[in-house]
Amino acid sequence: MNEQKAYPAWQFTIEATALTIFFGYTALYSYSLVNSYNARAEISTALYLQLILYALFAYITADFVSGLVHFLADNFGNPETPVFGKLFIYSFREHHVDPKAITRHSFIETNGANCLVSLPGLIYFYYASGPVVDYTFRFYFLIFYLSIFMTNQIHKWSHMDFPPSFVVWLQRLHVILPPRHHGVHHTPPFDKYYCITSGWLNAPLSSLHFFQALKKVLTWNFH
Ligand SMILES: [Zn+2]
Ligand SMILES: [Zn+2]
Repeated sequence: MNEQKAYPAWQFTIEATALTIFFGYTALYSYSLVNSYNARAEISTALYLQLILYALFAYITADFVSGLVHFLADNFGNPETPVFGKLFIYSFREHHVDPKAITRHSFIETNGANCLVSLPGLIYFYYASGPVVDYTFRFYFLIFYLSIFMTNQIHKWSHMDFPPSFVVWLQRLHVILPPRHHGVHHTPPFDKYYCITSGWLNAPLSSLHFFQALKKVLTWNFH
């Protein structure tokens, strides 16, 4: 396959721009969170624990969202579907034909699409404030969007023959998606273990037959 044709210049431009804006807002967002953290009247152990729990929950939510998007891209639509066809469906379909192709993708091709779809939410929560979207919620969404940003990179690492040693260490601890664990998804009938951030939700969702049930519901509704 011709790599240039698979990743046209217009897509590179959009995704490189999205990645730049994503990093810009992430920096501004982190800075504003640190400022509002320092301005708090009291900083307690309870707040630390709350932030740790929110970070964990954000990472788990990202794993679920990664599974849901992957499931939809594998099972519905086609590469010509407006917007999502080029951004997600093509790459997930290509991934099943040639699982190693992702390891040849550049940093921008790997991570640009996730930055692009995260921008509206990231920008909204950067500017949002008030009793409903308070400090801890804004912290939660920052970790959530950072986890979404890391998802395709983690997925790419799980397919590399020789990922960096710190990555291997994180994979062995199952902090991020381990290659053998992800291999279950690449084994026929290719209908489970869709989550690709940490993969922590794969076993529970699989035992609940969650994606098989969701497919039945969506097929019944839309076909
Ligand atoms: Zn897949
Ligand atoms: Zn894969």
